[in-house]
Amino acid sequence: MSLKDNLEIVKNNIKRAALKVNRDPAEIVLVAVSKMVEIDIIKEAYALGQVDFGENRVQSLKPKSEALPQARWHLIGQLQTNKVRDVIGRACLIHSLDRWNLAEEIDRQARGRGIVMPALLEINIAGEEQKAGLTPPDVESFLDAVGQLSNIQVQGFMTMAPLLEDPEAARPVFHELNALYRRLKGNNYQNVDLKYLSMGMSQDYEVAIEEGANIIRVGTAIFHH
Ligand SMILES: *Cc1c(COP(=O)(O)O)cnc(C)c1O
Repeated sequence: MSLKDNLEIVKNNIKRAALKVNRDPAEIVLVAVSKMVEIDIIKEAYALGQVDFGENRVQSLKPKSEALPQARWHLIGQLQTNKVRDVIGRACLIHSLDRWNLAEEIDRQARGRGIVMPALLEINIAGEEQKAGLTPPDVESFLDAVGQLSNIQVQGFMTMAPLLEDPEAARPVFHELNALYRRLKGNNYQNVDLKYLSMGMSQDYEVAIEEGANIIRVGTAIFHH
């Protein structure tokens, strides 16, 4: 299967999943996770109309975004504070804000560049020990505290569902994150504009869309085969 076919299949699946739950497919952002492919393939995808790309490492985000600055680059993997400097001005959105000192460093570096950096809180819904992310009870106090940081804006939540064979197994995780999102959306926090739910990968993006995702992060289904 070609890259073009894969993209078409994924887009059709997005459409079907959205229509199934009466959502507008156009409100769903497809982030093509390009961590396993080289820049030539990414350029090919861009030429086919794919605009958003996700990388999980700063070391890859940097050269790839420099080679294709007209695309929109998302940092989706764990971020070390000493790498934040290289993300600001390159990524349009950080999906993996998972601790307070990282928020402070993003704010500091963004202020140095005179910009406001959008970020999503990564949330560990299932409370899995080996996994990054805030647990749901920590989210409200984090959003309160972000009011102190005027060069970061929290725009939503991201989660990684446990990787299980059956995509349906991810549904309760997605459902719970959406419930938290809807509950907190009505609150008035400073430097917070909750509008994105980043959830769903190759294996379970259709379930994620049915459960309210408006950003999905799909790698294998686009770039492999
Ligand atoms: C690799 C990765 C993805 C994409 O995974 P696929 O199963 O290849 O679609 C999504 N999100 C994150 C954080 C990743 O690291």
